[in-house]
Amino acid sequence: MADSEKLAAGEFTTRHPIEADYLIIGAGAVGMAFADTLLSETQATIALVDRRHRPGGHWNDAYPYVRLHQPSAYYGVNSWPLGSGEKDATGLNKGFYELASGLEVLSHFDQVLRRRFLPSGRVQYFPMSDVGPDLSVSSLVSGERRPAKPRKVVDASYQKFSVPSARPPPYAVAPGVACAPPNDLPRMARAYRDYVVVGAGKTGMDTCVWLMENGADPGRIRWIMPRDYWLLDRAGVQPGQEFLASIARSVADQVEALAKGRSVDDVFARLEGCGVVKRIDVAVKPTAYHCAVIGQAELELLRRIVDIVRLGRVIRIDADQIVLERGAVAMNRDSLYIDCSASGITATPSKPVFEGNRITLQIVRMCQPAFSGALIAHVEAAYRDEAEKNRICTPVPPPDTPADWVRLMAIELANRACWAANEEIRAWQARSRLDIFVRQIAALNGTEAEVFKELGRYGRLAARAAANASLLSAN
Ligand SMILES: Cc1cc2nc3c(=O)[nH]c(=O)nc-3n(C[C@H](O)[C@H](O)[C@H](O)COP(=O)(O)OP(=O)(O)OC[C@H]3O[C@@H](n4cnc5c(N)ncnc54)[C@H](O)[C@@H]3O)c2cc1C
Repeated sequence: MADSEKLAAGEFTTRHPIEADYLIIGAGAVGMAFADTLLSETQATIALVDRRHRPGGHWNDAYPYVRLHQPSAYYGVNSWPLGSGEKDATGLNKGFYELASGLEVLSHFDQVLRRRFLPSGRVQYFPMSDVGPDLSVSSLVSGERRPAKPRKVVDASYQKFSVPSARPPPYAVAPGVACAPPNDLPRMARAYRDYVVVGAGKTGMDTCVWLMENGADPGRIRWIMPRDYWLLDRAGVQPGQEFLASIARSVADQVEALAKGRSVDDVFARLEGCGVVKRIDVAVKPTAYHCAVIGQAELELLRRIVDIVRLGRVIRIDADQIVLERGAVAMNRDSLYIDCSASGITATPSKPVFEGNRITLQIVRMCQPAFSGALIAHVEAAYRDEAEKNRICTPVPPPDTPADWVRLMAIELANRACWAANEEIRAWQARSRLDIFVRQIAALNGTEAEVFKELGRYGRLAARAAANASLLSAN
């Protein structure tokens, strides 16, 4: 077969193998954070491959009004700041540190690639390319396939993401019904009689807020809420030194609730009692927990929506009704349905991060993907023994339910204790942009009585909290 025929058949293999110490599959937030720290701490060469046309992973599919839900200071790569480090002076996040927009997140990764990775001369970047099971790298545009023979393979695609724009709605929609992903909302919105938001996770909440901020009457928003969520209070995750005492209190409150709780429900009742978690409706018991973060002003705005449908997941949307798992509701024909039902991260079983010449990137600090990618790269750079590397990097998969959070906190607390007992890791954390809490604690001069009081409470309760979390999870 001639080269041109092979190219047309997608079977074109060149003789030029890709040579690099590390082949990283996926240039999303986690792959980028890993590559950045590896570049800082080793002389290794990297081949960075992604099916998409630019780095940032699922952020390329994000809806136009998306923002991080935790402050920008916790996100991106370690060596490069994300945002200006300022507080918002207006809007629902007023008084709190900035939340990068989706465009800012993409711009961050683009700058890191173009201004840091590529000029280093140690990174080859292959966009629009797929890594096959045999590690060959195929261009999705030309069909060219190149073998790769790296020293190590880094799988930064193991954790799967699902966002609404990347797949059709998971329910039937009758012809003529206006149903769109949130990506299309700004373009499609007109004076519909009703707006129906399907899903109550971060995307659903953002969509309700967007509608009201753009003039929709809350009385004309119907919110399909298959599950209620426990939400973390944004006041408890602020990065500035002026918030340190309240962050320390929140961290200590969490271990106290875990140490003293008599059941998962009791743990969350205690967390709510001290303001660590919130919920949209205090009369409804949440059954979901995805680490979503919310501010008080946003919560109050969302509480203005009273037409909430709690009948399970949507099965189908007809012209004049919506059919759900536990019933049907009549609908106005002039409604726009916004599909916010994708789950975000989907559960994949945990596996060892380090296995021979394969590294499988996973979250090793609860809901902190960027920090996790950076820490795993540091451990790869600084440690030799595989068992020790895996001990430092035990995966903490994303929680789905309140019971998951309790169970996974036992692993999270063991990881924290392991890192705190390791002077070298502690020193690395103290100089990491992405580890705000440990960095700030390391900089204390001993006079901050309130912070030390809370750290003392944490220290006294942490082991008991881990033991009780395991016990509650076993029952
Ligand atoms: C709306 C929203 C808001 C969020 N807000 C926050 C926040 O405030 N703070 C926070 O910490 N987290 C937040 N998250 C979660 C966070 O963004 C994710 O955990 C993180 O971005 C996941 O990155 P990733 O690299 O693991 O995955 P992905 O973004 O999915 O990247 C994986 C990449 O791998 C590529 N790939 C897969 N297979 C192959 C292959 N065979 N060959 C080549 N390439 C391949 C894909 O094309 C993709 O680009 C948010 C998530 C969402 C959806």
